[in-house]
Amino acid sequence: MGQRIGIFGGTFDPIHVGHLVAAVNARHALDLDRVIMMVANIPWQKAGQRAVSTPADRLALVEAAVGEVEGVEAGTMEIDRGGESYTADTLAELHRQSPGDELFLIIGWDVTPVLTTWERWEEVQRLATLVVVNRPDYPPPRALAEAGWRVEEVTVPNLEISSSDLRARAADGRPLDYLIPEAGVRAILGRAMYRGREEA
Ligand code: ATP
Ligand code: MG
Repeated sequence: MGQRIGIFGGTFDPIHVGHLVAAVNARHALDLDRVIMMVANIPWQKAGQRAVSTPADRLALVEAAVGEVEGVEAGTMEIDRGGESYTADTLAELHRQSPGDELFLIIGWDVTPVLTTWERWEEVQRLATLVVVNRPDYPPPRALAEAGWRVEEVTVPNLEISSSDLRARAADGRPLDYLIPEAGVRAILGRAMYRGREEA
């Protein structure tokens, strides 16, 4: 029997409890064997707009932050592949490695309007079931099933936390505690990430 695998993709610059709470709740609601927090190597839709931390730094934060939580892990497939990161490639590679697994792609409401801007989104649609979690300040997605997506909805506590705000906090020395698991905060401080960044 194949496994039910959740893929939660992100830049994770930095990862925070909003991402992790969504991941564990999706895992529970859909009875997933595990959820992979897949760290983008080059997030092509964000690159060029701001300074993105190195893949190695962002991965270290994800590894520290997931810690010992059961069924949640850091994924290196996109970093190992190198170059710009496309979800279609990641799903195809997972499918190739283990064709019997069922793939679930976890995203927030804010992402649903831009899904069709993704490289080879039709392949994403074919390879995975979308798992959509609520986000504050965004309307619920509509018509995804009509557009051909297999969709599951999972309700999570609305946590108004964003990586952008966390970078700004780190840049001016405001506390990150409880917004990121403690080991992740230590990793940020230890690597002197975001410190004094202007456009954080
Ligand atoms: P940024 O502020 O740089 O946009 P972010 O915190 O929004 O970062 P992203 O890397 O843009 O994180 O998002 C990755 C995924 O995490 C997306 O699917 C997004 O919907 C989801 N996500 C981001 N923040 C939250 C949150 N607070 N709760 C639940 N899901 C979230
Ligand atoms: Mg975002």
